[in-house]
Amino acid sequence: MFFDTHCHLNDRRYENDIEGYVERAKKAGVNYLLIVAWDVKSSKKAITIAERFNNVYAAVGIHPVDAVKTPKSDLKELEKLLTHPKVIALGEIGLDYHWIKDEKERAIEHDFFVMQIELANKYRKPVLIHMRDATNDTYEVLKNNTPKYQGIMHSYSGSKEMALRFMDLGMYISLGGPVTFLNAREPKEVASVVSEERLLLETDAPYLTPHPYRGKLNESANIPLIAEAIATIRNVSVEKVEEFTTKNAKTLFKL
Ligand SMILES: [Zn+2]
Repeated sequence: MFFDTHCHLNDRRYENDIEGYVERAKKAGVNYLLIVAWDVKSSKKAITIAERFNNVYAAVGIHPVDAVKTPKSDLKELEKLLTHPKVIALGEIGLDYHWIKDEKERAIEHDFFVMQIELANKYRKPVLIHMRDATNDTYEVLKNNTPKYQGIMHSYSGSKEMALRFMDLGMYISLGGPVTFLNAREPKEVASVVSEERLLLETDAPYLTPHPYRGKLNESANIPLIAEAIATIRNVSVEKVEEFTTKNAKTLFKL
């Protein structure tokens, strides 16, 4: 059984097909899903969907790009959701310097990031980290505010050297569609160096659709394509990748 550690089934594009999405995932052997939020509304929606299915869980949190237009009072709302039994992680949170260029707005991202790590520590949850064009600052924040219950570098797009440093801070490395892209050098390098105990799978659906379906809407049923790419790179069987990545997710989320 596979575990998709990062999908946005709470995205409105799936609104009329939630049952079908979960069914197709199960048929593909993807029995465990973690639905990840980007603001309070999507956090509530992730919980509502997770309540309907076995082995479907929710992560609640405020994404760095959304943080710049979010009142701090939303963190109080978020805090209330963290005690829900289907909530197994806090995310996604982090730093995005690709979309956010303004220094003042970057300071807001930083504040929300640190405050949410503190919330995760208080409620004993791992964190899901979004990092885009902000590797060094993300590393500094995590080093100075270490998530006590660890976390995931989601859709990790940094170098293999930095992946090892994030692992030293207790983080897991999650890979998705880009590892299947024919021209992607870095994710393939990362897939080869991350230790078996720290590697996870994700789709980040509806984004980052794996080869050969690029251009189409992504979904959790595509996880085996990502596992196959990683198996080829590491020269092991797909079953082996399936086994250790699911075991890692269950260990991290205490399932
Ligand atoms: Zn995401």
